[in-house]
Amino acid sequence: MRHPVRHPVRRPPRLPALLLLALLASGGCAGTRSSYPSVPRAKEEVREYVESGGWERAIERVTTRALDYLRRRAPQVARPAIVLDIDETSLSNWPYSRDLDFAWSRSTWNAWVDRADARAIEPTLELYRWASGNDVGVFFVTGRREPTRAATEANLRAEGFERWERLEMMPAEWGEGSAAFKSARRREIEEAGWTVVLTLGDQPSDLEGGHAERGFLLPNPMYTVD
Ligand SMILES: [Mg+2]
Repeated sequence: MRHPVRHPVRRPPRLPALLLLALLASGGCAGTRSSYPSVPRAKEEVREYVESGGWERAIERVTTRALDYLRRRAPQVARPAIVLDIDETSLSNWPYSRDLDFAWSRSTWNAWVDRADARAIEPTLELYRWASGNDVGVFFVTGRREPTRAATEANLRAEGFERWERLEMMPAEWGEGSAAFKSARRREIEEAGWTVVLTLGDQPSDLEGGHAERGFLLPNPMYTVD
């Protein structure tokens, strides 16, 4: 592995899960749960988890299972394909989350994406490489918005994701949620004659809605997206 995953992302702004737990505890609605960390401590735990390599090791445990399934299944189906999410699945935006202290805004996010400086998540890159070398179609389906296509493509290529069948990006004005967008794209991939062997993402909305044989969910300690 080149280095521990140093980044992560976010789209529709959401409080990080640990932060939310801490807020719930402090709000008195879980009076017996005195063991919740303070907000600063929760953030520190996430920083330590990511920067120690713990996050990447947890990702690898999932991608290992995904690759096992793909290697077994790809030879058995017609036109095998995989669907990959981008943020916190293929590319890590950890510097963005860290430097903004887990805050998010559309303007700062767009500026970060335009830098095309996110790093590959190595375990996912390994899965990608196996797929690319074994006649498995690779489809990126992302909540990143269409206007960021050029920067996103440049970033993917610079990090080793060099070829794909399609890169499906959310329209700038999309308002129906991530799961609806992503499952509709997978349906189109199937309708084009591919067998979607698996979909890989860091949010349940990357997996919901069918049109994939299997879904593999990666950990994301920084944020959640609907
Ligand atoms: Mg993601």
